[in-house]
Amino acid sequence: MVLIILPSEYSLGLCRAIAKGGVTNSRYQKDKLQLSSTTTTTPKKLNLLDGEMKIYLLSTFLLASWAHAALSIGAQEPIINPTSSSLLELHKSLIEHESITGNEHNVAKYLISYLKSKNFTVETQDVGPFEGSNKPRENILAYVGKQRKTRTLVSSHIDTVPPYWEYKSIGDEIWGRGSVDAKGSVATQIIAVEQLLAAGKIAEGDVALLFVVGEERGGDGMKKANDLGMEWEACIFGEPTELKLASGHKGIMSVDLKAKGKAGHSGYPELGRSANSMLIPALNALLNMELPWSEKYGNTTLNIGRIEGGVAPNVIAEEASANIAIRIADGEPVVIEKIILDTLEAVGQKVDVSFGGGYGPVYIDSDVPGFEKIVVNYGTDIPNLKGDHKRYLYGPGSILMAHSDHEHLTVHDLEAAVKGYKTLIEYALK
Ligand SMILES: [Zn+2]
Repeated sequence: MVLIILPSEYSLGLCRAIAKGGVTNSRYQKDKLQLSSTTTTTPKKLNLLDGEMKIYLLSTFLLASWAHAALSIGAQEPIINPTSSSLLELHKSLIEHESITGNEHNVAKYLISYLKSKNFTVETQDVGPFEGSNKPRENILAYVGKQRKTRTLVSSHIDTVPPYWEYKSIGDEIWGRGSVDAKGSVATQIIAVEQLLAAGKIAEGDVALLFVVGEERGGDGMKKANDLGMEWEACIFGEPTELKLASGHKGIMSVDLKAKGKAGHSGYPELGRSANSMLIPALNALLNMELPWSEKYGNTTLNIGRIEGGVAPNVIAEEASANIAIRIADGEPVVIEKIILDTLEAVGQKVDVSFGGGYGPVYIDSDVPGFEKIVVNYGTDIPNLKGDHKRYLYGPGSILMAHSDHEHLTVHDLEAAVKGYKTLIEYALK
């Protein structure tokens, strides 16, 4: 015997429908935990007996459909296309292995054993610990058989930004840190290659998979991958592009400002020199300077991401600093360095400036038919991998979800990305 407890609003709806002699259709929508109800009132001239009988039959029908809905709700499981279950399982396992930059070793171990279980030949490349940690980190290169040199490379990153958010499946949505950036890409790339192999559409020597560490913090993994000494005709990079093919992304550079003043009692400002008062006008000038723009990428934008200065309200600040990230829409970082130096000189503030490298806008190939195109504002590992290869950027999910506390995508996104990657790989191998 199954005891059914209906959610109160639906029970109420049922009572009202029955009282009104109305017809209520409730449908459990495929994989959403949602009941849709439509009520149509029956004609007024109704024979009472007929009406009662109808109401009785309807109630029986409704109870049966609600029983189905309630049971499905109880299970809290999305209805999944059976062919995607291995995809969802891989995606889930990747998310469940927390891999905030510096802590990629566990997810790498998992991925290595997964790829070996699917008969890939797996090589690891030691990248070394991240910033003062002593945890080992490695890139993973996987290919079929003995043919290390392949025509196409399929690649993404296995690290994520902090903090960790655990895996959650809610209806057809999958939530969790890395669900979008970039474990959605990693899982769908692997399944795409598995499916092409199983269908005999690719073979040994066609495709290698490369999963790197450190993309979110400077790209030390991909930079190290250059030491593999390999070349490819085409590289397909995985990042969230909303299933569109990116035709380019903005460049990036970092700028640090430091002001050095003289500490003293805040009641006697003439005896000290406030580092904060030096830094603020300098930052204000940078906020108002004109930076290059382009048709394709729009404006170059500047973000003062972090400011630090002084020790207490009643002490003249001796030190102040700011960290800035600039997303470049046109030209190389050296052009913007000059604009910044000129701007600071014009404002007459003595602050130390240091530039942390970077790159201008990155051209990406987008010649594959059948894809919508997109330009993105974020950085990727694409400029970190040297070589004269074609480069594609594609993946499931939106960058607007990535790095957020609501990072998620849909099962449909993942399934569509497998198809997308298969198309890209086959196109690259033509
Ligand atoms: Zn990413």
